[in-house]
Amino acid sequence: MQIKIDQIIHSHRKSIALIIRSDGKLVVRAPLRLSHARIQEFVSLKTNWILAQQEKAAARQILVHAFINGETFLFLGKSTPLELVDHAREALRLDACLRLRRSDQSQAGQVILKWYRQQARQILTSRVKLYAQKYALSYSKVRLSSARTRWGSCSSKGTLSFTWRLVMAPVEIIDYVVIHELVHLEIKNHSSDFWKKVQEYLPDYKKRRAWLKANGYQLDLGI
Ligand SMILES: [Zn+2]
Repeated sequence: MQIKIDQIIHSHRKSIALIIRSDGKLVVRAPLRLSHARIQEFVSLKTNWILAQQEKAAARQILVHAFINGETFLFLGKSTPLELVDHAREALRLDACLRLRRSDQSQAGQVILKWYRQQARQILTSRVKLYAQKYALSYSKVRLSSARTRWGSCSSKGTLSFTWRLVMAPVEIIDYVVIHELVHLEIKNHSSDFWKKVQEYLPDYKKRRAWLKANGYQLDLGI
């Protein structure tokens, strides 16, 4: 399989650089006199990396929502289709689908955001309560943030903050972040003692943390 190079930019440089643009196109920056054959050869050596990056770029693309029938939204790790309904008591309701009242379509972004935040408050508060009780840890309150990559934090006063985006992730991932922050109530840093404690509560925490690193960018509404 030959990888398609969308653009080659020659310049005074000594090495080759591959750039995957946000639309998935491959741009190669190459030294002035490097032949096309050599560039193609280099690119084919990097096939796996390029395909992986293009896949990620494609996944990011679908994050721009138009709020139309059949479009999917992540909730607790499940891809849930949107369905517009003509008559409904609430602007948005979840059963097998995420049902959006048609008269609210023009403000769908805000309606969905509000719904995610409500779900997040409920779910995160109850997971925190559950594990705090289980491990006899005391916190002062739970706060919601909108952070994109800072999944959670723990203040010196014992306030636990979590981004609402976490409710797009599977519950095992939510639990990892919750337990991570709960352990910070006792150990503020990321020392080996900290990770030992996390592992004691969640023996497979590394797998969950890796999932978050690899997939965190998907936990976004694209609005
Ligand atoms: Zn931490």
